[in-house]
Amino acid sequence: MTTSTIPKLDWGTIKQQPRRDVGEAAYRSWLQPLELLDSPSPSEVRLSVPTKFMRNWIETHYGERIRTLVRAAVPGIAAVEMVISSTLYRDEASNPASAAQDTALAANDPGRGHIPSYNPVIPAQPAANDAGDPFALKLDTRLTFENFVVGKPNELAFAAARRVAEADKVTFNPLFLYGGVGLGKTHLMQAIAWHLSKHQPHRRVLYLSAERFMYEFIKSLRFKDTKAFKELFRSVDVLMLDDVQFISGKESTQEEFFHTFNALVDQNRQVIISADKSPSDLEGMEARLKSRLGWGLVADIHPTTYELRLGILQLKAETLHMPVPKQVLEFLAHKITSNVRELEGALNRIAAHTMLVGREVTLETTQELLRDVLRANLHKLSVEDIQRKVSDHYKVGLTELLSSRRARDIARPRQVAMYLAKRLTTLSLPELGKRFGGRDHTTVLHAVRTIEQLLDTDKGIGEDVRLLERLLQQ
Ligand code: ADP
Ligand code: MG
Repeated sequence: MTTSTIPKLDWGTIKQQPRRDVGEAAYRSWLQPLELLDSPSPSEVRLSVPTKFMRNWIETHYGERIRTLVRAAVPGIAAVEMVISSTLYRDEASNPASAAQDTALAANDPGRGHIPSYNPVIPAQPAANDAGDPFALKLDTRLTFENFVVGKPNELAFAAARRVAEADKVTFNPLFLYGGVGLGKTHLMQAIAWHLSKHQPHRRVLYLSAERFMYEFIKSLRFKDTKAFKELFRSVDVLMLDDVQFISGKESTQEEFFHTFNALVDQNRQVIISADKSPSDLEGMEARLKSRLGWGLVADIHPTTYELRLGILQLKAETLHMPVPKQVLEFLAHKITSNVRELEGALNRIAAHTMLVGREVTLETTQELLRDVLRANLHKLSVEDIQRKVSDHYKVGLTELLSSRRARDIARPRQVAMYLAKRLTTLSLPELGKRFGGRDHTTVLHAVRTIEQLLDTDKGIGEDVRLLERLLQQ
């Protein structure tokens, strides 16, 4: 297969053609993610789609139109196939230098205007030669800047990631991104890698998890090949190490990483790191490494807010092209506060259900479908959160709320707090007693029963409790 036998196909432009016609949302959901994969023969073209679901949808709704457009652009093309490749493997093992230029993404660059003659992208089937190749750039096609929703909690990390991705020289070194599980660290890391391989294909980017780094290092020790290991890691322009906390307590791996890190920074190569904690809070890390990691820009990702969660849900629902009622999205954004991964999982479940039954879900079905997830998220509410909200609501100091004072205007809010804590957390009565100033479990039980009775008879208490419950579950 050589370039001369392959017709010119400007896929980047072709896929834009039906944009007006199908509408912006549908374009972004279905056509934009379609990428040109390769051309096994001059009359065949393969496009890649991230998921099976998307492939089926695109085939049904846009298949014919796509084929017509491709054939109109290049009359010699007989077959247009769509293949699923959620993960792209870039195989550089055989020829690192040329492969670094021939990235998968360069193939999508409209400027190139032809189907590449190489085959840099291998769909995510088991890649036999990948296991030993640290340069196989495994990226998820969904994890781009375009698909990242920015809000207060992640705006700094996002801005820093974009800066590094767009700069052609090293600005801050290292960039250190940190935050809790499922808040978008890997997403931002991979978005940087995508951006770099697309816009600066000459830079050698290596993205890998710290676990993989350790695995490669140990392997090099075992095969007495540390020289090659060192050369490999020191030859990159951009090193991205995800989840660096993994090498906590692993002394020799840390030592090796420290040297690699220094060598790269000394040569003015960009290093990008992610972790679940800030450099200074990483446990089991050597002091000199911790200090070195904090030298550049440290950006944290905070837990999500309601607005960010809603924004993410809206984008995902649009991408799935699923008719999920606004009310359901808002409900999910309120209830699933743990992390974005769970939020996505919940939406996927709803999408699957919608597909199966063929009609929109309602709030009731959502509650039914997600009962386990919702309950798990409820458990995350702490007794302290409840006490604080109740004390704010009734304008009773927290110390007073937990004191032994029995005056009605303090005792009643205290009982409400106990009632809510029993309902909204999984703690037992004795545990709750302890958290309420070391009371006996019978006191808590009494409080719960009292409020239960008042809910039927006292309108004011009923309203207070409902309001507090709603506030606490946001
Ligand atoms: P982490 O690496 O911090 O544990 P990930 O980057 O793997 O988290 O994110 C978990 C999931 O949530 C991924 O599917 C990711 O795409 C999604 N996600 C997280 N933050 C956002 C965001 N701001 N916008 C869109 N998707 C997000
Ligand atoms: Mg991650």
